[in-house]
Amino acid sequence: MTKPLAPHIPLNRPRLIAPGPVEVSPATLLALAQPQMHHRTPQARAKFLEVRGKLAQLLGDSFEAVIVTGSGTAAFEGALVSLVPAGAKVVNASAGKFSERWGEMAERLGYAVVKVQKPWGELLDAGEIAAACKDAYALTITHSETSTGALHDLEAIAAAAKAVNPDIVIIADCVTSYGVAELRPGAWQVDVIVSGSQKAAATPPGLGFVLFSPEAESKLIKNTPKGFYLDLERELRGQKEANTPQTPAINLIYALDVSLDRLLSVPLEVLWAEKKRQNDALIAAGDALGCRSWSGRPTPAVAVLVPPAGSGVKRIGGKQVAAALADMNQRALPGQAPHEDTVFRISTLGYADRYDALAVAGILEDAFSALGHPFERGAAVSAAWRVLSN
Ligand SMILES: *Cc1c(COP(=O)(O)O)cnc(C)c1O
Repeated sequence: MTKPLAPHIPLNRPRLIAPGPVEVSPATLLALAQPQMHHRTPQARAKFLEVRGKLAQLLGDSFEAVIVTGSGTAAFEGALVSLVPAGAKVVNASAGKFSERWGEMAERLGYAVVKVQKPWGELLDAGEIAAACKDAYALTITHSETSTGALHDLEAIAAAAKAVNPDIVIIADCVTSYGVAELRPGAWQVDVIVSGSQKAAATPPGLGFVLFSPEAESKLIKNTPKGFYLDLERELRGQKEANTPQTPAINLIYALDVSLDRLLSVPLEVLWAEKKRQNDALIAAGDALGCRSWSGRPTPAVAVLVPPAGSGVKRIGGKQVAAALADMNQRALPGQAPHEDTVFRISTLGYADRYDALAVAGILEDAFSALGHPFERGAAVSAAWRVLSN
């Protein structure tokens, strides 16, 4: 294949079709190009409160948002140390990289961790998790498992856990479901939602979000011995008055404001349906090339695809697909260790519309063609378009 004219993306970096960091809109980037403001000015403080409000609006519930300077992992650690007393029992439900991370984190923090594990690619079982929750203080769970592409049934799991233990604090990693997938923490009895700026919020990395239900807010520990910078009780008190204990990443918050306006320009149901349609289009494109979704209940945040195998067609590895895409200046991802080669991951999370999903289908055709995989040209693009035009 001759090299095509460079796409409309800057040449010094690949197009981002990975589930974070994601493409960022020019308007959001321009918000970062302002002269430095001081975070204690009336204007900056008003903006801070406005953005906190928009973060709750994107959740669709009257939760209280705390903006953490740090990535999603810092936000999760803050939620844990600010809500769970030292040594308490924490149930960790896991079926992939990120959910396993929360178990490891809770162990390091000295909690009594009970792990309820499923193999990667499989779905968590509500009954199994609930059985472990009886005398636990908290449950950590990942809604959209970005490593496997599974959207776990948070609603059913939370209902089962609360049925056996109404006081259990459910801390949900919604890093790639917040602003992407249907999420109703109030109705679902989920207490804490954690996310970060470089996923659906389509802002550069550097901010984490923690959203507390009124009940979770009442359970925040004063002067937690396990955190100073990540003492979110103190943070929330300050942030409600736009008076953060530390210097906030005010420039990123200005940028986030612009990105949130785009997401909030349509009702949440419309946003969720559109992101699902885009991701379904990627899965359909993969399907047309002989791939299959690793999860039977796919998250709308990312298509995690098992490359074609068997029936005379030579096996293609996930790493090979990601490398072929990289050769075309497209940044997708292979699987995460220890499943690097099992799958590849492509995504339109972030600043992308349905026509970007169509482009990714075409990109995928070029990659599979470069890998010598036989298929009918146009099959993936037309499969994607069928989904998108529905
Ligand atoms: C990206 C991600 C995280 C957080 O990662 P950071 O690099 O700390 O922002 C956590 N959970 C899931 C499911 C993710 O996709």
